[in-house]
Amino acid sequence: MHIPMVDLKAEYKTIQEALDAAIQRVVQNAQFILGPEVEAFEEAFAAYCGARHAVGVASGTAALFLTLAALDIGPGDEVITTPFTFFATASTIVHRGAKPVFVDIDPQTYNLDPHQVEDAITPRTRAIVAVHLFGHPAEMDPLRDIAERHGLWLVEDAAQAHGAEYKGRRVGTLGDVACFSFYPAKNLGAYGDAGAVVTNSDEVAERVRRLRNHGQARRYYHVEVGYAERMDGLQGAVLRAKLPYLDQWNEARRAAAHRYNQGLAPLDLVLPYEAPHVRHVYHVYTLRTDARDQLIQRLAERGIPTAVHYPRPLHLQPAFAFLGYGEGAFPVAERMAREVFSLPMHPHLTPEQQEYIIQALREEMGR
Ligand SMILES: *Cc1c(COP(=O)(O)O)cnc(C)c1O
Repeated sequence: MHIPMVDLKAEYKTIQEALDAAIQRVVQNAQFILGPEVEAFEEAFAAYCGARHAVGVASGTAALFLTLAALDIGPGDEVITTPFTFFATASTIVHRGAKPVFVDIDPQTYNLDPHQVEDAITPRTRAIVAVHLFGHPAEMDPLRDIAERHGLWLVEDAAQAHGAEYKGRRVGTLGDVACFSFYPAKNLGAYGDAGAVVTNSDEVAERVRRLRNHGQARRYYHVEVGYAERMDGLQGAVLRAKLPYLDQWNEARRAAAHRYNQGLAPLDLVLPYEAPHVRHVYHVYTLRTDARDQLIQRLAERGIPTAVHYPRPLHLQPAFAFLGYGEGAFPVAERMAREVFSLPMHPHLTPEQQEYIIQALREEMGR
């Protein structure tokens, strides 16, 4: 049985007509960068998030970078974030000339532990970047409270959590600004790189709009030195064609997660946690065991792909050695990096494929 980690070909086939028509529209109109398709998607995505603005940009990384730039975060500033995330969450802080300050995570949700955030605040702290890792929203209420009391910006890295909910509200307006990635394998994926900045702030939205396009206030009139980080017309058209399916695809992910949970419950594995007040959207299905490396090796021999999100926390990455953190600085993140692995997860995973995976895990783990 062939089991892919993600299946973008299956997704294409389910809505091929709408996607082909969307792509044709862009080719016929020849609006390849920004333009009406991007504007239409921005409007639809802002409405989906319940936000005033969505600004289409070139990637999730660009969304993070431009957000920090729009908030005037730069040299001498500190930004608090998690060491257990994708590299771009922190690399964009460094690209701004600011300093990432890591805080350890909660072992159940794998997200920033709000209880430890306050201790990391200094007079230089300007912002907190909370990541909704794997599709489980970060614990936003206490973070909001801390940010308000200390006058800090609260940014959501929602790259893995399109459509996830926290206390009945979709991610995207839980902080001051939210950054989305539409990398093809994300819950809502483009056909290339794309991202968006979502916010209720008119000022931040306007600044990001300007910064993404060379700091132009109008054509060839540059009020500041900006960047070339615009969304392509093709990506806007593809994303708008896919957006109406996001909720049903997330539901399919949740159903698949439920089937894994049922089948794997008897095994000595720590399954994904879903807090009672959130709606997890399972960007990935991540579980853990202290015997991970042998287990994923044996699954690979049976043709079952797995991935490790993430094998090395950011404070131990060679690129961030200059920050001066050592082994043992964030024991929870370090332990998770040794133990976690992810099973195939996407909306088109079949119960038969899952049964095969569950059976293999039962045999390998002697149950
Ligand atoms: C994917 C991802 C990003 C970066 O998005 P790109 O579109 O690949 O640039 C940032 N943060 C997190 C948590 C991600 O998963």
